[in-house]
Formats: sequence, C-alpha cells, structure tokens
Amino acid sequence: MLLEVDGIDVYYGDVQALWGVSFRVERGEKVALVGANGAGKTTALRAVSGLLHPRRGRVLFGGRPIERMTAHRVTDLGIAHIPEGRQLFPLMSVEENLLAGSYLPRARPHRRANLERVYTLFPRLAERRRQDAGTLSGGEQQMVAIGRALMSEPALLILDEPSLGLAPVLVQELFRVIQRIARDGTTVLLVEQNVHQALTVADRAYVLENGRVVMEGAGRELLAHPGVQAAYLGVG
Ligand code: ATP
Repeated sequence: MLLEVDGIDVYYGDVQALWGVSFRVERGEKVALVGANGAGKTTALRAVSGLLHPRRGRVLFGGRPIERMTAHRVTDLGIAHIPEGRQLFPLMSVEENLLAGSYLPRARPHRRANLERVYTLFPRLAERRRQDAGTLSGGEQQMVAIGRALMSEPALLILDEPSLGLAPVLVQELFRVIQRIARDGTTVLLVEQNVHQALTVADRAYVLENGRVVMEGAGRELLAHPGVQAAYLGVG
C-alpha cells in the first residue's frame, strides 16, 4: 500500500471540513476522489500533502506516518501535489518552470532525461520551451504544471481538478496523458468535478459528500451505479 488515510478529521479553525475520512491508494493505481463543490475533496488532498494537519486520524505513506510533517518534508518523501490553479512562474520560460521542479537531490542528476520525458509526453511544450509560461493557454499551463511535478520523480502524483477550464478536446488529451503517466509507474490520486472522466480513468474511486466518504468502488462500477448516475452524471 502506498498511501493510507485513516479516519481523518480536518478543521479550518473551528469549522470541521472532514469527518473520519478514510481512503487508500495502492502502488501503481489511479484513484479518484469525486463529489460536489465543497464536499471536501481539496481538503483531503491538502491533508495528504502536509498543507493541512488532521486533528484526528492518520496518514501513512509507504507505511510511515506523515500527518504531522510539513509540506516540504512530504514533497521530499515523494508526493507531488499540483494544486488547482497551477501556480507557475509566469515570467519564466516553459523550460525554466520545468527545471524548477527538479531541485530535489534525488531528481537533480536526472533532470535532462526527465525533461526529455516531459517533452515526449507533451510535444507541445517542446515547441514552446522558450516561451514565457504566463503566455500559454490554460491547457498548456496545466501541462507545464504536470511536467514540473514529474521532474521531481514523485512516487505519488496528486492532481486537483486538472481538467478545470479546459476545452473538451484538451480534457481528452489530458486524461490520456494521466493514463500514460500511471502506466509508466507513477501512482495517481486525483480530484475531479468531471465525474464521468474521473470514473472512466480511475481504477478505484471514493465519493465524498459533506466531508464524509459515502461510497467507494471500482471506477467503472461507480459509473454504472444508479445513485452516482442520478447525483453526478445527470442520468435518471
Ligand atoms: P471545490 O471543488 O469547491 O474545491 P471541494 O470538495 O474540494 O470543493 P473543499 O474545498 O475541500 O471542497 O471544502 C470543504 C469544506 O471546507 C467546504 O465547506 C469549504 O467551505 C470549507 N473550506 C475550504 N477551504 C476553507 C478555508 N480556507 N477556510 C474555511 N473553510 C474552508
């Protein structure tokens, strides 16, 4: 098991956002957290990557408790979190943004090879390697954000709403790349409001409602579930 989240309660000040949330991600899996706006998906990701600390419960990464660690330390251990909104350096080139992801000691020596890997995954970025990141389209910026995360050679890649604001054709391309990243050996945990896409690519998924996990199952199984279809897929 790569990641085990076990019964976490997370608060923003006095306001409780997660109640006893548990989920797990096995090595090599693609796992999705889905749910409506405000269900607690982003909060759950932040609790994994050390940006928030649960008041109760545990987070184990490779069997090791990480729920009290700083985000920096968690990154060092091999978790790369791409937040919603991407957070690139707009006045730096595509390539400089990508290289900024390779600062960790384990990744630095391989940065040329990793750069080539990113350009193979995203040929469009190779064409634009000298262009300022701030001048790229939303979809291209998302590619840079994913590429930069891969430059750190993470064991677990966390993506928060990667398809947000992208044109449908780019959403397809993005999910194809996510599949390929997973096939190449990086475990993927993602949050999506695009429930159909998320359940199509995910091996397993968890449905969150009001800060609680209310359902879990294989992606395809949830896709066919009448309750999920009625609540999230506009069916029924
Ligand atoms: P979205 O897709 O809208 O981001 P989400 O499922 O990711 O939804 P969260 O962002 O995790 O949901 O929010 C869960 C709950 O925590 C919501 O009730 C939200 O209002 C609350 N919340 C989120 N961020 C904060 C914050 N910084 N301060 C206080 N409450 C917050």
